[in-house]
Amino acid sequence: MVKQIKDLLKYASINEHGGILLGKNIVVDGFDYRDYRVITHAHSDHTQGLNKSLQVSKYIILTNITYDIMKSLGMIRHKYINKYVRVKYGEKIRTNEEELVLIKADHIPGAAQVIVELDDLLIAYTGDFKNPGKGTPIVKNPDVLVIESTYGKPEWTRPFKDEVEELFVDLVKELLSRGPVYIYGFHGKIQEAMIILRSHGIDTPFIASSAVYRVTKALEKHGYWFGKVFSHVSLEAREVMRDGWYIFFSHTNNIYNHNINNASLHGLNRIILTGWEFNEPYKRVKNNTWIVALSDHADFEQLLYYVSESKPELVIVDNYRQGAGEIFAREIRRRLGIPAIPQPSSTHTLGLI
Ligand SMILES: [Zn+2]
Repeated sequence: MVKQIKDLLKYASINEHGGILLGKNIVVDGFDYRDYRVITHAHSDHTQGLNKSLQVSKYIILTNITYDIMKSLGMIRHKYINKYVRVKYGEKIRTNEEELVLIKADHIPGAAQVIVELDDLLIAYTGDFKNPGKGTPIVKNPDVLVIESTYGKPEWTRPFKDEVEELFVDLVKELLSRGPVYIYGFHGKIQEAMIILRSHGIDTPFIASSAVYRVTKALEKHGYWFGKVFSHVSLEAREVMRDGWYIFFSHTNNIYNHNINNASLHGLNRIILTGWEFNEPYKRVKNNTWIVALSDHADFEQLLYYVSESKPELVIVDNYRQGAGEIFAREIRRRLGIPAIPQPSSTHTLGLI
């Protein structure tokens, strides 16, 4: 039986607060009046509305690692501690009407995709991801696929994406020969950068700002290895910094926070990790500042690859978070011939199909 799109939309949609409604009882990464709230990963655009969910929903479902990252960032409220259901990838949860499972998404540690089965429907939400078909398994033949669209414009493709890691390591080595290096990124990406550097034999001591340090320590409990990392307020860090041979990691928000670092004041070398660069794998933006295009998200090509391999009946493109939902939905329809709509949308969505 061919399912009607308007019927499928009863079981998958995105509300105006960015909550992804799956099945009949589940909302993911935003608020709605549903019993089950899922958090795909610890980034703030996916934990939004949590305080309201804690009051309204019966269960908050997330991976063990995401829980520990959120805890290290002070995002777990003790009053509601019993509502959290921590799961492993692949562990099945039965709601009244659905079966829910989180599977891996290659994004930041703990990140998950969500699969919901009810009646004869299979619904999947990718969450944020990169490396489809490699680090991120592709959910095959769902009735509805809900997908992120951060880099959903055709020109947001990084032709050099397979070389970025090596070039990043080379740049760090080169800058280290001149002095300490300061690296800025978002939670999760910083730890990825640490792992890349260590796996390429860089044994320079790492110094981390307080929040970065706490997240790093939380991940060590889950088997991640970062070598020597010191909190920037520790005595060890002070000693290491006196020697002048170290890499300092800090959150992107701290670039201009001179209490955390004094890199810009003293002309020390800085690297900013950002996905928003498509022309070159890295470039110098100021005398002592480089950006490196190390991204945690699929580029346009990879987003499209996910959809083409998944072969869903209907695609709902996340048009709430930063990205290009309307354009990506149009490209899916045009290039793959699969019905695709952006949500939430200002236009009459059914008319687009
Ligand atoms: Zn994210």
